[in-house]
Amino acid sequence: MIGVIGGGISGLLSALALEREGYDVILFEKDKLGGLCRSYRVDGYQVDTGVHAITMLNNGPLIRLLKKYSYYMPNFQPYGSYYIRENGLYEIPVSLDDWITFPVIPKKDKALIISKMIDLLTTGFEKNISVYDVIKDLNLSDTTIKFFNTICLFLSGENMKNTPLWRLFTGAGYIPEDDILPFIYKENFKINPLKSSLIKKIHPDKLKTILKNGFLKTIKDSSKKYLSKFISGEKYSTQGYPLGGIQSITNCIVNSLNKTKIVFEEVIRIEKESNKYIITTTEDNYTVDKIIYSAPSKNLPDIAKIDEIKSIEDKLRSIKQSDSLTVWFSVDENKNPLKYKGSEIWINPPAWAKCISNYDKTLTKKGKSLIGVSFVRMKEKDAYEAINKYLNIDVESQDFLHIQRYIPEQASCHINQFFVYPKISDNFYVVGTDADPRSMGITRASFSVEVMLSEFLK
Ligand SMILES: Cc1cc2nc3c(=O)[nH]c(=O)nc-3n(C[C@H](O)[C@H](O)[C@H](O)COP(=O)(O)OP(=O)(O)OC[C@H]3O[C@@H](n4cnc5c(N)ncnc54)[C@H](O)[C@@H]3O)c2cc1C
Repeated sequence: MIGVIGGGISGLLSALALEREGYDVILFEKDKLGGLCRSYRVDGYQVDTGVHAITMLNNGPLIRLLKKYSYYMPNFQPYGSYYIRENGLYEIPVSLDDWITFPVIPKKDKALIISKMIDLLTTGFEKNISVYDVIKDLNLSDTTIKFFNTICLFLSGENMKNTPLWRLFTGAGYIPEDDILPFIYKENFKINPLKSSLIKKIHPDKLKTILKNGFLKTIKDSSKKYLSKFISGEKYSTQGYPLGGIQSITNCIVNSLNKTKIVFEEVIRIEKESNKYIITTTEDNYTVDKIIYSAPSKNLPDIAKIDEIKSIEDKLRSIKQSDSLTVWFSVDENKNPLKYKGSEIWINPPAWAKCISNYDKTLTKKGKSLIGVSFVRMKEKDAYEAINKYLNIDVESQDFLHIQRYIPEQASCHINQFFVYPKISDNFYVVGTDADPRSMGITRASFSVEVMLSEFLK
């Protein structure tokens, strides 16, 4: 029997895959299935748990897992573009061409940034260098600095002083997410896109070899590919938003489960007795052979008093998280300032806004548009002021106003952050957004499940 602790997207995907692989699974959830991948109705509107874009849909881990194990597939709509609202609405630059024509940043700053980017992509950089370390001496304008700070908050949940440079480059697509793994799991490794030979598309079962051998010395033209990505600016093609909101992703998995036993109880202790684990909940005790832990691993040292956890206790306790505030509100459809598919960022204060009813009208009331704006570490009053400043909307006088506070990921992409490798021992595994550094949120959680499965099913 396998005990899965936590029924968020990573726990549910793990339970589904292991059930299909022939194992008996018991899943413990203290609150609601889906965790942070949920939607719910309030006053005739349906909101998600934060503003969401689902990344890497064409060839990413979520789709791979769903195709292999789920009976159902969410109906993903193309995401659209990312904009910045700053005296007008402009597409966020990705390629060199976009950068040159991007009007928000002064010309002098653009020249400095472009040459710095090419420099870093060609000469390489250290793991713990921050975005701020790189731009602080360029003497950039206030707007440019705020722009980078916002992009960092959006990609990593951290400001630019705490955001590693690699996160900016993977987020922009200049460095493939998979290439970052050896960089994260090995100490003192310098990433050098031009000179290092980098492996493309690391499949989870190759991960061990890569961790052992370092980057393979076989890539002929990786250098050209890195710079050409920057020059051609292939972008956002693989992002989407599902009809029915993000709840539909969770529903596809839950409705595909056949025999997994779901127990709505909070796990408070894990102990080991000979070769078995005893899981204690607020209600009862359960005996299992193996554990897949998908709740925040920061809490593991308090729950699991077992040797394999004790040895990494300090690292687990040091994991950093950030918190978000999302403001959902409605406006009359004809007054919707976000009449497009995609989303926009603001830089002062940093925020991310999206109209989800542009994808699916069933999420809103007739004649109304439903908008969500997510902030990092923000007070409600300041959030309302920001919405008023950027959209000229007084949210407190609208038909609908709903506030959410969540921790978006179990580990933010902080400088020096510890990401747990999913296999802790032959019988104890960890999945979730703190068990993989790649991409973000739901995709990151799915990556960790793929790595766990590749180890577990060996
Ligand atoms: C504002 C905001 C914006 C976001 N934007 C995006 C985005 O654009 N794209 C994206 O992909 N993701 C985004 N996310 C994040 C994404 O939704 C989550 O990172 C992802 O769903 C996390 O999945 P998980 O399985 O790792 O963890 P969780 O969803 O946190 O699941 C953990 C589960 O474990 C349960 N649990 C915890 N402790 C116990 C216990 N002791 N016993 C039993 N159960 C327990 C919890 O109740 C929970 O259900 C966003 C989140 C927020 C808040």
